[in-house]
Amino acid sequence: MDFSNKILLWYRQNMRDLPWRHESDPYRVWISEIILQQTRIDQGIGYYLRFIERFPNLSILAEASEDEILKMWQGLGYYSRARNLLTGARQIAKLHQGQLPGNAKQLKTIKGIGDYTAAAIASIAFNEAVPAIDGNVYRVLSRIFGIETPIDSSEGKKTFAKLAASLMHIEHPGDYNQALMEFGALHCKPAQPLCQSCPFQNECMAFQLKKVQDLPVKTKKIKPANRYLYYIVVEEQSAVYLKKRIAADIWKNLYDFPLIETPVATPVEQVMGSSAWKSLFGSATVEIKAISENIHHLLTHQHLHVRFIHVALKNGKFMHSNFLKIDKRNIFEWPVPKLIENYLNEKIEGQ
Ligand code: SF4
Repeated sequence: MDFSNKILLWYRQNMRDLPWRHESDPYRVWISEIILQQTRIDQGIGYYLRFIERFPNLSILAEASEDEILKMWQGLGYYSRARNLLTGARQIAKLHQGQLPGNAKQLKTIKGIGDYTAAAIASIAFNEAVPAIDGNVYRVLSRIFGIETPIDSSEGKKTFAKLAASLMHIEHPGDYNQALMEFGALHCKPAQPLCQSCPFQNECMAFQLKKVQDLPVKTKKIKPANRYLYYIVVEEQSAVYLKKRIAADIWKNLYDFPLIETPVATPVEQVMGSSAWKSLFGSATVEIKAISENIHHLLTHQHLHVRFIHVALKNGKFMHSNFLKIDKRNIFEWPVPKLIENYLNEKIEGQ
């Protein structure tokens, strides 16, 4: 049996029953693929089901507000996916009569759809024989075929794309692509692959040459940057202040509290005596209500060291036109980073 039939057979015997696997509706395939990028499947299922319930088709999604989409996305991370999804939906509504384009080449013209997502949608929803290559596929192919070219080099990308295309199952491209990814996710796992029960054991070069843990090869190792954030929760009677993050930075278009960022870890007293603090409060006086411990929040390429300084405004006003004054009882209606949601939840539990 050749490779593509063998992996397909494995898939049919081992595939997980996931909500989007009952779908070939291009819109739903698109939503599931975007949600699943950089997300664990068990975490993605709930988001997918809620998203599809609220936005059952493209025209409803295209009319949604960005705040609502970001709120639904809260906790999933990589918020550019949510913003692009909305832009993409509007683009499709306007330029493609509300229907996703039917091939990978045209799909790539939609905001947020890159090579991988275009191939996944085109193969699953439109039966186009194009390989969808994600991290799982790189790992499986590099191990079985013993390829040591780094997967993050341009040469590696070409090599794997060519190999994946040559292995493609022409009659069942969608299932074939999903089979390779599922095999990587469940069987040929990064740290503890199930080599002893593997149907590819005899032909797997990495297994035969005892190189399983060495493959795939990557060249770049990005060192995460440390950032030091001091959030100031400013309470004014029943209100608090939020600000929309509009800069090209983490959490773009989500809302957060007034923020002072320092280049190195700084004692809280020093932050409260800084010029940034003075420019926030001017002549207004505040009462310090609570100061959190240092909270360590990990993002893919950034380590955040965060403290929340909770203050109540005593005299004077917090006068900044770029902050929104909101009723604190409604704060959970705003799309905020998971870090802030966690802080608010802990605060409520602790009260
Ligand atoms: S033998 Fe091990 S490394 Fe090779 S494909 Fe199977 S699980 Fe992956």
